[in-house]
Amino acid sequence: MKRKILVIEDNEQNLYLIRFILEDGGYEVLSAKDGREGVEMAATRLPDLILLDIQLPDMDGYTTARALRENADLNRTPIVAVTSYAMPGDREKALASGFSGYIEKPIDPDTFEAQVSQYIAAKNRQRSRP
Ligand code: MN
Repeated sequence: MKRKILVIEDNEQNLYLIRFILEDGGYEVLSAKDGREGVEMAATRLPDLILLDIQLPDMDGYTTARALRENADLNRTPIVAVTSYAMPGDREKALASGFSGYIEKPIDPDTFEAQVSQYIAAKNRQRSRP
């Protein structure tokens, strides 16, 4: 079965690129344009991984990550921030909000799929531990 990735991203061009790369890599891609829609979709579709933009309208990525983590069904789902600004302290703030990690924009089409698949592999290793 295809692995499902939910992309929460308000920028059409970024979404287009991410979808193109991941579908090419054999993933099923779901998308949401804001945090609220993303939280609802994650709850019903239970993706294998969530890519979450930090700069979103209304509800930012940090708030969205905390809302996703409130759902016990999504407790172990990797949530990866995709963001263009990495300031000192951002990493800590992201981890404290429940993110599993970070991919920096601009997206590099040559390495993006490998970065994403590492997070899925890490989650599967956790699960197989006794
Ligand atoms: Mn954005």
